Amino acid sequence: MTDFDATRAMFHLPDGVIYLDGNSLGPLPVAAAARVARTIGAEWGDMLISGWNRAGWMEMPARLGDRIGRLIGAEPGHVVLGDTLSIKVYQALASALEMTPGKRIILSDTGNFPTDLYMAEGLVRTLGNGYALKTVAPEDVAGHITDEIAVLMLTEVDYRTGRKHDMAALTAKAHAAGALAVWDLAHSAGALPVDVAGGGADFAVGCTYKYLNSGPGGPAFIYVAPRHAETARPALSGWLGHQAPFAFDLDYRPGQGVERMRVGTPPVLQMAALEAALDVWDHADIADIRARSVELSELFIREVEARCPDLALASPRDPQQRGSQVSFRFPDGYAVMQALISRGVIGDFRAPDIMRFGFTPLYLQPGEVIRAAEIMEEVMAGRLWDRPEFRTRARVT
Ligand SMILES: *Cc1c(COP(=O)(O)O)cnc(C)c1O
Repeated sequence: MTDFDATRAMFHLPDGVIYLDGNSLGPLPVAAAARVARTIGAEWGDMLISGWNRAGWMEMPARLGDRIGRLIGAEPGHVVLGDTLSIKVYQALASALEMTPGKRIILSDTGNFPTDLYMAEGLVRTLGNGYALKTVAPEDVAGHITDEIAVLMLTEVDYRTGRKHDMAALTAKAHAAGALAVWDLAHSAGALPVDVAGGGADFAVGCTYKYLNSGPGGPAFIYVAPRHAETARPALSGWLGHQAPFAFDLDYRPGQGVERMRVGTPPVLQMAALEAALDVWDHADIADIRARSVELSELFIREVEARCPDLALASPRDPQQRGSQVSFRFPDGYAVMQALISRGVIGDFRAPDIMRFGFTPLYLQPGEVIRAAEIMEEVMAGRLWDRPEFRTRARVT
């Protein structure tokens, strides 16, 4: 059984803050500062370039990839880290399209995170030749998986509403139609149990700075199913995905398995932070996390609905249909969120009218959830949000 007091103590949480935004940027793991300092001082500082060998920097993308693999149900040796999620989406999609010759349609949904759709648009423009991206409403995806679909590209948990797709069922449907499935786990990894192997995913990608707490700019991960690992051809054929980077051949030969999805030099300092963040998971069981996340989010919905009649739940009411976040709609949601943040309750806002709150049991406790709902009631009942300074939009919302 996960000791949630113990895991909470592993994070730096500023006084006076109730943090409901770990779904967007996880907080600082206490051990990360010393771990990064060691990498800077004892490794970069003292070892200089020999750190690539002596400190194992070059193996980190695969070593840490394996630890993430355990959280998403991947077979050992089939996850690698690097780049940002946008890049990993592009790579997975490009490889998958090449593996479904004769078909040219990517199917996604309008609840997908825009960068995933933008990367797909860019890729089909480069490919030309009739390739196209088709987006339908999230609830209509299953009905549009027809024989003309080459790749089903979905994000398991909707970043705005928290609505969760059924990975296994949709993947099975895609396979039956001769398509491959690419899953984005940005809001799943570290939030709920994921089983990429059992669910049949062909490719999966995700980021580490949300529920995995690697810090701003932390690297993304990519999973390639073992059955494709030696055949998938990387579109971004960088030197570190080469079979022998230090042979400096003039021709590209893909590396072994998922290693071929590496592109260039890995972000060692970010990976040091990620390593400290992943240590927390040695003390946490993802099934416990899920049970507690459902408990916390149910509590929040109950408390907010009882106190704030003007807010409309934007997330599915059935917790099994949700990820680990809850959203409410309100026309002036941006101003309400700014008023909440000024009172120490940190969530975020997604246009046009969604206030988003993430539930992260590693460090969030039931008393804080109730307190957040009380503060929301004060803000709503007193119209405390209705002030010019809360309406001015910052660059990041
Ligand atoms: C957070 C998120 C991203 C972010 O991509 P970056 O390249 O890391 O900025 C992409 N896709 C989804 C689904 C996300 O939730």
